[in-house]
Amino acid sequence: MTESADYDDFADVSPEAAFALLGNKTRIDIIRELGEISDESLSFSALRSRVNIADSGQFNYHLKELLGSFVRRTDDGSYELTYAGSQVVGAIYSGTFNQRGASRAFKLISSCTKCGSSLEADYEQERVTIRCPACDDQKSSFGFPPGAFENRTHEELARAFDTWLQLLLLASFGGFCLNCAGRMHGSITDVSEYLDDKEIGTKHVCERCTNRTVNSVGAYLLYQPIVVAFHHDHGIDVTETPIWEIPWLRDEETTVLSREPWCVQSVVELDGDRLELVVEDDLSVTIVDT
Ligand SMILES: [Zn+2]
Ligand SMILES: [Zn+2]
Repeated sequence: MTESADYDDFADVSPEAAFALLGNKTRIDIIRELGEISDESLSFSALRSRVNIADSGQFNYHLKELLGSFVRRTDDGSYELTYAGSQVVGAIYSGTFNQRGASRAFKLISSCTKCGSSLEADYEQERVTIRCPACDDQKSSFGFPPGAFENRTHEELARAFDTWLQLLLLASFGGFCLNCAGRMHGSITDVSEYLDDKEIGTKHVCERCTNRTVNSVGAYLLYQPIVVAFHHDHGIDVTETPIWEIPWLRDEETTVLSREPWCVQSVVELDGDRLELVVEDDLSVTIVDT
């Protein structure tokens, strides 16, 4: 074999060149097989046997094409995935690029914080919407990879929706775009065109890929340390409780103190105890002394 083993010799390639490399079943099989052995590497012959291709020349050609981008050769001459290769494995299993999620709807164990009826999860066009069919209150709506439905019960899916949503929210609030790893910028804004029953909320926009998340001020406040602690003091672990079960978010009390620049006051109320907070235009939060 003549391929270079030195990963550092390879430079960046264009997105179209990188994606073009993947348009072949043998190459996808190579990446998938290397993905299945996780921490280990595979020798040429072991990898070829797993990919199950008789023509050694063909196998060698395709493996060479992947070297330096999705696959690397280790010091002992075996093969393993690069970071990019492992991301391709993730993309395959999540189904994001190659599966259309079948529409479905099912009841959740959670009850509506407004009317007490069972909430429902709808999945359509790769988006989950959590809503109350009785009072038509929409709780959350977010993109969700179709591969995540595999091997999960409805109960496990509800937990997965919550975990996924928390990840999206915490990444956005932390200024990190989960779509492209770019910087997100957050601000207070008029959200009436995005959220049914809210006028003021927060909007986080990625400065690179224009991905955006729009939330109520309450959803933004929920993961602030002081608010996490306030819930803890009232027996609620916000990391374990789906956002659609947080009682005060039902009719969150937010008052606009100023529009230029934006400044709002919000109240978190649990068991009759009130925590009053001011959120400035840059989304900094301060506690109001009461
Ligand atoms: Zn309801
Ligand atoms: Zn982005």
